[in-house]
Amino acid sequence: MSRPAWAGTLASRGERVLLPTYARYPLEIAAGRGARLVDSGGRAYLDLVAGVAVNVLGYGHPVVARALEEAAGGLLHASNLYWTEPMVRLAERLTSASGMEKAFFCNSGAEAVEAALKLARRARPGRPGLVCFTDSFHGRTLGALSVTAQSRYQDPFQPLLPGVVASPLGDTRRVAAALTEQTAAVIVEPIQGEGGMRPAPPGFLPDLRRLCDDVGALLILDEVQTGIGRTGAFFAYQHEEVRPDLVVAAKGLAGGLPMGVLLARGEAAAAFTPGDHGCTFGGGPLVAHVADAVVRTVLAPGFLDEVRRKGEHLRRRLEELADRHPVVVETRGRGLMQGLALAAPRAAELVTRLRDRGVLAAPAGASVLRLVPPLVIEEAEIDAAAAALDAALGGLEAAKGADGCAAGAAPPPSAAEARP
Ligand code: PLP
Repeated sequence: MSRPAWAGTLASRGERVLLPTYARYPLEIAAGRGARLVDSGGRAYLDLVAGVAVNVLGYGHPVVARALEEAAGGLLHASNLYWTEPMVRLAERLTSASGMEKAFFCNSGAEAVEAALKLARRARPGRPGLVCFTDSFHGRTLGALSVTAQSRYQDPFQPLLPGVVASPLGDTRRVAAALTEQTAAVIVEPIQGEGGMRPAPPGFLPDLRRLCDDVGALLILDEVQTGIGRTGAFFAYQHEEVRPDLVVAAKGLAGGLPMGVLLARGEAAAAFTPGDHGCTFGGGPLVAHVADAVVRTVLAPGFLDEVRRKGEHLRRRLEELADRHPVVVETRGRGLMQGLALAAPRAAELVTRLRDRGVLAAPAGASVLRLVPPLVIEEAEIDAAAAALDAALGGLEAAKGADGCAAGAAPPPSAAEARP
């Protein structure tokens, strides 16, 4: 790839004209192919971030390229005043893949969460309560932020929605105490992503189902990060016997184009009436046609088996690294959504060391490394990433961290979990 004319200029140009909502890495992305990204200087990186769990089919996948070409010459947008075939086809595919009944399309995860919270209000009038979980992440809009129980995201934007209670993930007794006849819904991530790659313990989601039924609350599963095959099932809740009332998804749904969806079942599927909610761009023909191609590919025979196989391979490699490196305290996750918990808040430093070795990963909180590669990553690429991680962890252990923690010297747990 030849060096583009803008190489080396983006950070200074961007800082002048973009609101500083992101602390971006000093990396200009110019191209991508498969599970690799190329920077503006022509250097290739193995990508274990995938646009933050978005690019499930990687970069330049022929199915996505073909779907884009097919749709590009036709309708890009027609509005929700009319019926369009790609939207209906996609809704049919998603409801059949999930056991849900009806879909509402929007453009992002936070919008899908907003739609779910509004639907819960509509289905449970007079019950303003919501239950979420400590360290959850459901998005940045005011409703979604209200159920994102992390003070670093919420504090600057108080007051948020009233009536929200955060309970510890996995503690059935505490959630039971939090749920009342005033609770409209419980919202939970099957694996907390931004909150540190923390899976809900086995049996917890079925417990929530039972507890919701006891008080007549709706169960909302936020599959924005875990959905569309990432954990080796189409939705992560499908690993267990649990039937949510509402499911929200986004990220991987359209393989890199913006799309979110709320899926509803049973009585909740009948709660909205015309005018209650809407989205100008939601379910547009181009994005729906591409999403349908992505979903069809993920649901094709063998694809999810491969995700599970590659996920186990990645997990084995990470466990080997955990055995060798005292700075790693735990590997956790499922399928191709894995986290490496460190003994010190040094995830950002590890990300930099990995990037220097040609591998992109992201932190999930201060002390957890997040690995969410494209689902099409190959086993040899996982091995190459693990070798780079081995060296980067070695470098981390040899160096003293910015916090003064040296090789595997674990600070007290509260400091290890501290947020930046
Ligand atoms: N829910 C979960 C579980 C997420 O991980 C995210 C984003 O990371 C969101 C919701 C918000 O999605 P978006 O950034 O598309 O609004």
